[in-house]
Amino acid sequence: MRVVFGAGSLNRLAPEIDALGLKKVLVLSTPGQRALAEQVMNLLGSTAIGIFDGARMHVPVDVVEAATKAASGADGCVAIGGGSTIGLGKILALDADLPFVAIPTTYAGSEMTTIWGRTENARKQTGRDRKVLPRSVIYDPALTFRLPSGVSATSGLNAMAHAMEALYAPDRSPITSLVAEEGVRSLAASLPTVVAHGFDLAARTDALRGAWLCGACLGATTMGLHHKLCHVLGGTFDLPHADTHAVVLPHVAAYMLATEPETEAALQRALGTAAPAQGFSALADRLGAPRSLAELGLTERDLDTVVEQVVGNVYSGRPVTALALRSLLLAALHGDIEL
Ligand code: NAD
Repeated sequence: MRVVFGAGSLNRLAPEIDALGLKKVLVLSTPGQRALAEQVMNLLGSTAIGIFDGARMHVPVDVVEAATKAASGADGCVAIGGGSTIGLGKILALDADLPFVAIPTTYAGSEMTTIWGRTENARKQTGRDRKVLPRSVIYDPALTFRLPSGVSATSGLNAMAHAMEALYAPDRSPITSLVAEEGVRSLAASLPTVVAHGFDLAARTDALRGAWLCGACLGATTMGLHHKLCHVLGGTFDLPHADTHAVVLPHVAAYMLATEPETEAALQRALGTAAPAQGFSALADRLGAPRSLAELGLTERDLDTVVEQVVGNVYSGRPVTALALRSLLLAALHGDIEL
C-alpha cells in the first residue's frame, strides 16, 4: 500500500484520491471526530458525497448496516480516526468492495493489517483478508495533537504490545524484529513528551512513526498470549481496548520474557532498561495509564471465564498453563506487578 507521512500530509489527500481514480467518496468518522470529517469534506470538494459519523468500537453490525446505506452511490471511502473508524472502513471494503484511504489519528495500527473484526450479539468475529488493506495511508502527526493524553498513553502502549509479540512470534523474521524494536524505541522515547505536551510536533511525529512500525509488525506476524487475553477481556467483558492492552502488557512481558532471551535483549535495547517488564510498568506509571483490570471493571469472579477461553489455544513462546494464567490475571486484576 502507499503511505504518506509527515506534518501537513492531510493536504495530500485529494491527489491520493485522484490517483486511485475515486470520484464519489464517503467520509467515515466517530461522532467525536465529526469536525475533522468536515475538514476532509472541504478538502475533497465535490468528490466527497457525505459523512457517516457513527463509527463505534468493535464495529457493531447495526453500525455496518447504517454505514452501508450511507455509502450507497459511493465508489470509495476515507476513514479518518482510530481503530474503530478504520475497522468500519475495512468492513465496507470486505462486504461492498469499497476501496478506502485510511488517515489514522491514534496509535492502534489497524491500517497496517489485513485483520478485520465485527461484532454481533456481543461476539466479535475476526478474520484476515487482503481486501481490507487501505489503498493508501496518510499519517499526519498534526492530526494527533488533540488526542487526549490518556488515550495517547494507552494507545501507545497498545502499539508497543504489537511489537513485543512480534518479537517472539512464530513467523517473525530479522526484518520484523528490527521493525518491532525500533517501534518500541520510538514510542518509549516520545510518549512521555506527548502526554505532557500534546502539541509537541517532534514528539507527536516520533510517536506516530513508532505506531506505524508497530502496526507493520502486527500486520506481518501472528500475535500470541497478550493479544488473545486482551481480545477475550474486550469481547466478553467489554473492557476498553487500549486501556486493557496497557494494563496487561507488563504482566505478559514478565511471564514471557523469562523464556525469550532474544525478545528480552531487543526490549532492553529499545527501552534502555535491564528489566523490560519493569520498564513497561514504569513507563505506564509515568504516563498515568490505568494499572489494574479491576479499575476497568473486571472482578475476581470473571477470571475463570478468561482462563477457560484463553488457555486451550497454542501460543508461541513460554507454555501457558491454567495455573500460571490465573496467577498472571490475578496480578493484572489488582495491578501487582510480580517481577
Ligand atoms: P478508537 O478508534 O475507538 O478511538 C478512541 C476515541 O478517541 C474515540 O472516541 C475517537 O473519536 C477519539 N479519537 C481518535 N483519534 C483522536 C484524535 N486524534 N483526537 C481526538 N480524539 C480522537 O480507539 P483505538 O484504540 O484507536 O481503536 C480501537 C479499535 O480498533 C478496537 O475495536 C480494536 O479491536 C481495533 N483494532 C483493530 C486492529 C486490527 O488490526 N484490525 C488493530 C488495532 C486496533
